[in-house]
Amino acid sequence: MNATNAQQRGTRSADAGIVGRGSREAARLMRKWFSSLTEAACEDKKAAFVFVMGNMNEVLRCFDMPIVFPEVTALQTAVRGTSEGYLKEAEDYGFSPDVCGYVKADIAMHLRGGEHPMGLIPKPSIVVTTNACNTYFKWAEIWERLYQAPVVTIDIPNQRAARLKSMPGDKDFQFELAYVVQQVNELIAACERVTGRKFDIDKFREHLRHANMMSRYWKMLLALNERTPAVFNALTDGLAYLGMANCFRATEEGAIYFKELYEEMEYRSKHGIGALTKKDGKDVPVEQRFRLGLMGVPCYPIFRGFSEFFSDWGGVFVMSSYLKFASGGTALGYEFNLDNPIESFAEGSLLTVRETQTGLLFNFPDIEDHLSPYHLDGIVYHGVKSCRTASAGLADRRYHSSELLGLPTLLLESDIVDPRAVSKAQMKNRTDAFFEGLISRQQRAAVS
Ligand code: SF4
Repeated sequence: MNATNAQQRGTRSADAGIVGRGSREAARLMRKWFSSLTEAACEDKKAAFVFVMGNMNEVLRCFDMPIVFPEVTALQTAVRGTSEGYLKEAEDYGFSPDVCGYVKADIAMHLRGGEHPMGLIPKPSIVVTTNACNTYFKWAEIWERLYQAPVVTIDIPNQRAARLKSMPGDKDFQFELAYVVQQVNELIAACERVTGRKFDIDKFREHLRHANMMSRYWKMLLALNERTPAVFNALTDGLAYLGMANCFRATEEGAIYFKELYEEMEYRSKHGIGALTKKDGKDVPVEQRFRLGLMGVPCYPIFRGFSEFFSDWGGVFVMSSYLKFASGGTALGYEFNLDNPIESFAEGSLLTVRETQTGLLFNFPDIEDHLSPYHLDGIVYHGVKSCRTASAGLADRRYHSSELLGLPTLLLESDIVDPRAVSKAQMKNRTDAFFEGLISRQQRAAVS
């Protein structure tokens, strides 16, 4: 056997173990998370309800409460094709068609006693919300009314205007930090009251350590997609990673998941194995002709079809704003100082939630900037009826990218959970026209 054959054979046998491992493991862990919620519901255990933007997992895990992410459970009703029934039930109950679909899917689920396509969801015994989305407050008030669950609101000072933010060391930052530290202490006291347990600072340090490892690998993982081929699709694979980044944040399993995921992706990057898709039951690399950025959230009611609008033309999403604002605190790769855990946790929360809010209001430099390291061929803006927080201003931002960055852009509109607001044929027509434009642009560039 010559050296090349040996190398190829070695690579192939190594591929079999490592390639696709992250997707398989994410599916296993997600099932495990839902099973733990079902178990908690059946045993009537106390659960904490939190949102992805500013989820305070590190504190909550010190009290061993199951943690429910209502945005994750709501989106799963759409991915599993059951959201319409939930939405109609909530509307019959009195919720307006205008209300965020996540809220309605969740409330109908509670009206059904926690019945979810992946199992049973327990009731909240404490609710933690931040000001990252205004809907969070009203959503939390519904659980407060239904279950008399105490609500703790973490109010994170936002950036005052584009390019005007306080930084560690500034006087303003010190005031803002003191304000968040106080709120973290109040959250700890509330958890102690609800669970009857004392806060353990060493346990807290341990959770911070796991969160640090996750953030470190998350940042390195996102940077791998700056290379060609992109090793993951920010739309499809990204959803699985976000599930892990939130539901397993501050746990050893979550930290190891991201370490091993990074190892797989680095291996694939080295061997030129790009983002994968399923064909005839097998994982095969997708053709990568166009590198795209996604602004907004995916269309879950037709999740696979939505992704195929792009992959059928060789479009791969190398980066999305969703991977930043919904990554549960990993967005900046911030690492906590274990010698000063409470203040450092408050500082990390302040910086990451603020970054999330800034990205939603102003711009995502990784995507909407001349200096984006992702070498984009185009940007897709997806506005959704449910979520004004992520959709407001997208049309203006699209105009900015087309005019000032000179990038081809596409604006699509549908919804995150409501299939009644999704016009598949219309979206496909617009996507096809977008790619025809990209191809003719490439052809013009080739002859000039
Ligand atoms: S409005 Fe948007 S960010 Fe807010 S809860 Fe609904 S989906 Fe989430």
